[in-house]
Amino acid sequence: MDVLVLNCGSSSLKYQLIDMSSESVLAKGLCERIGIEGSNMKHSPAGKDDYKVETPMPTHKDAVKLVLEALVDPGHGVIANISDISACGHRVVHGGENFAQSVLISADVMKALEECSQLAPLHNPANIIGIEACQASLPNVPQVAVFDTSFHQTMPEKAFLYALPYEYYENHKIRKYGFHGTSHRYVSQEAAKLLGKPYDSLKLISCHLGNGASVCAIDGGKSVDTSMGLTPLEGLAMGTRCGDLDPAVLTFVMEKEGLTAQQVVDVFNKKSGVLGVSGVSSDFRDVEGAAAQGNARAKAALDLYYYRVAKYVGEYAAAMNGVDAVIFTAGLGENSKEARAAICGYLGYLGISVDTAKNDVRGKTADFATADSKVRALTIPTNEELVIARDTKELLDK
Ligand code: AMP
Repeated sequence: MDVLVLNCGSSSLKYQLIDMSSESVLAKGLCERIGIEGSNMKHSPAGKDDYKVETPMPTHKDAVKLVLEALVDPGHGVIANISDISACGHRVVHGGENFAQSVLISADVMKALEECSQLAPLHNPANIIGIEACQASLPNVPQVAVFDTSFHQTMPEKAFLYALPYEYYENHKIRKYGFHGTSHRYVSQEAAKLLGKPYDSLKLISCHLGNGASVCAIDGGKSVDTSMGLTPLEGLAMGTRCGDLDPAVLTFVMEKEGLTAQQVVDVFNKKSGVLGVSGVSSDFRDVEGAAAQGNARAKAALDLYYYRVAKYVGEYAAAMNGVDAVIFTAGLGENSKEARAAICGYLGYLGISVDTAKNDVRGKTADFATADSKVRALTIPTNEELVIARDTKELLDK
């Protein structure tokens, strides 16, 4: 069974075609600048040369058409026929309280997804457009939605409620939802395998440290708390997002800088975090480089970033009354030994001590705590696409 996994942004479409008999990636690629001048596609078939093309893609439907053509192309294609695609799995950012699990898409599901759009106006509309584009091009192929929020629907009320008037929750569903659920689920399950212990017997803290970043407390295989909130702005400092903040900063900045509320929220989302503090870049490689050359603001940004991750780990160890392992994943968590060592430097009290040689890995699974560490420190590459493909297959098998 081949599953096409799609992750649609407002002007982009990322895809992977996965052969589920071996869970191997047959091809992956990215369409960028959809609806903008300079639309282009990069298609990487396994075992063949990459194929790149710049061609107009006015809509996501055009992008999906191009992807399907690339997959069956005699030169750079990987399947003989479109009918080889058994199902499509779509990443959907926000499922609200409606979706605690992945779901086969029906007309009713599409209606519910539209309702969730007000909770994620930057993400869900693009996800919905991607689903509709696939439905149009592959009308007889089942479509599945896999949500970033589902994994966190197990959070207890004390973790997901904000201390606001309760009617805001009742009337508008304002609460913590959490994101990166597919990643936290995947790496925590992999951690259990690595530790050789039953998933439901473990207390795990997963740190997804990419451009967006969040920490998740997983007790007995269930998310019990996570750092992102109603939107992906809460929690850790991120590439361009501010994370936790005194809410009164909003009106203060509006007054001081003469900005509207929306403009300030844009600053919180796009000009803050590591970029805002360092003034260098949102890319950790640039910021690490600048800090190494003595740039004080770059160093301040990294210090603040590491400190916040460590504080969340401490918070979640307290929330679960213990922790068996702390997991590092995503761009920074998988690739930066400096970041892992700096964060673990705060965690000695938990019983974590870093084995410098074992921590010297990039993009590979490793337990990098010293043999006598009471709590394990793991780095595990995430694979959100595989989770989407597995959920899709499971729903179809049912
Ligand atoms: P992601 O969102 O998971 O793709 O992660 C993107 C982030 O990971 C970017 O900020 C990158 O700078 C960071 N990243 C990727 N590779 C490295 C590396 N070798 N060292 C430090 N940061 C990295």
